[in-house]
Amino acid sequence: MTDHEPRLRLHDTRTREKRDFEPLDPSCVRMYVCGPTVYGYAHIGNARPAVVFDVLFRLLEALYPRVIYARNITDIDDKILKVAKDEGVGIEVVSRRYAEAYREDMDALGVLPPTIEPWATEHVADMIGLVERLLESGHAYRADGHVMFSVESFDRYGELSGRTTEELLAGARVEVAEYKKNPADFVLWKPSTPDQAGWDSPFGRGRPGWHLECSSMIEKHLGTTIDIHGGGTDLVFPHHENENAQSRCVHGGAAFVRYWLHNGFLSIDHQKMSKSLGNILTVRDLRERIPPEAIRFILLRTHYRAPLEWNDEVVEDGIRSLERLYGALRDLEGIEASHNTPRSTVVEALEDDLNTPRAISELYQIAKETHQTGADLPRLKGELLASAKLLGLLSEPAETFFQQRSSGGVDAERIEALIAERAQARRNKDWSRADQIRDELDAMGVLLEDKDGTTRWRIQR
Ligand code: AMP
Ligand code: ZN
Repeated sequence: MTDHEPRLRLHDTRTREKRDFEPLDPSCVRMYVCGPTVYGYAHIGNARPAVVFDVLFRLLEALYPRVIYARNITDIDDKILKVAKDEGVGIEVVSRRYAEAYREDMDALGVLPPTIEPWATEHVADMIGLVERLLESGHAYRADGHVMFSVESFDRYGELSGRTTEELLAGARVEVAEYKKNPADFVLWKPSTPDQAGWDSPFGRGRPGWHLECSSMIEKHLGTTIDIHGGGTDLVFPHHENENAQSRCVHGGAAFVRYWLHNGFLSIDHQKMSKSLGNILTVRDLRERIPPEAIRFILLRTHYRAPLEWNDEVVEDGIRSLERLYGALRDLEGIEASHNTPRSTVVEALEDDLNTPRAISELYQIAKETHQTGADLPRLKGELLASAKLLGLLSEPAETFFQQRSSGGVDAERIEALIAERAQARRNKDWSRADQIRDELDAMGVLLEDKDGTTRWRIQR
């Protein structure tokens, strides 16, 4: 925490304006961000909210005495059920595998672990309790084995996305099932077939709806009203609109979220990332090709609410720019930093609705000043490092960064570890995992040669 008086302003999706940030309890700020649905590797778009809200977390920690940041793991979802079924394994095998991969990827991007990481499967009893309370208070009804939320029971439905129920329906593909009283009603609990993952409940064996998972984990870990709720802009409707409806109804109308923050979408070569276009870039593949910190740097060079375009040019330019910053740090080698607080202009840029592009340009300003005659180098070095730390940048010694660059980014240790893991998967007859690892190595440009029970590798240029 700095001695700086906080002057944070955040853009709230609900009111559509930048507002002064006033936490409910200034001694403890509470933030929740929807985490990954763990059925596959995180792509570069998924990394955007993780990195953006990591910077907000760092800033809040610098401004307030205490911050509780919860980012969940969505490990109950039909997409996970499908992968598990295709592989013939339990859902926990799939979710653990990809949650672990997510942690590794985010760690490589310098994303700090959140204060709390709740898993949906560990909160099913709380979710059932929440459904029961919604039923008792007349906000939900049972129909055809499901429990549905009744949007008509909440007259503020649409308050977040700012649209009427009719507009919401027209803009989203909402499943119109016969048992719904209103086509906009959504699932709180749905039945599972005997071969599907499910939990016993007073409404039959089944599983919770996705929106309910977050409402329940928020209530449990952060309470009735939280300060900040974040996620990608695609989550505004229906996910966050529905979380809001459930949570407010179960708390007798009490405020749920004081500031809703949403990051803009990332596109690749001006196209949406999609399986059918074959342009999904996973963090896993990318970090083999470019320095992970450069990925973070590129994500932060654009303001979080703006769309972000990812292409080769943007990547090359990002790497070169980060190298310039590390170059300035290398020139300060041997200088003992005398100062350990970020420059006020960097803090002010971030306080202005997380203006990371402006904060980064301030880092260049500090770097520039190091070349002026008579510069106070120990002080500038300290300011540069402390300011960059707020953004999670310049996290390595300059020497390490440049060494990795000159070795072409080949991480032999990681390749060997993956080969060993593949051999183990084959011994376990886990063919899908073995194939996955081979694909991963393939994407890294590693060519495998299996001969006489051993595997050799080389880099394909
Ligand atoms: P999911 O794992 O699909 O639940 O998504 C995790 C997070 O990534 C959510 O906050 C999404 O809004 C966000 N997200 C997904 N795709 C993109 C994208 N292309 N650009 C920015 N954010 C995204
Ligand atoms: Zn959520």
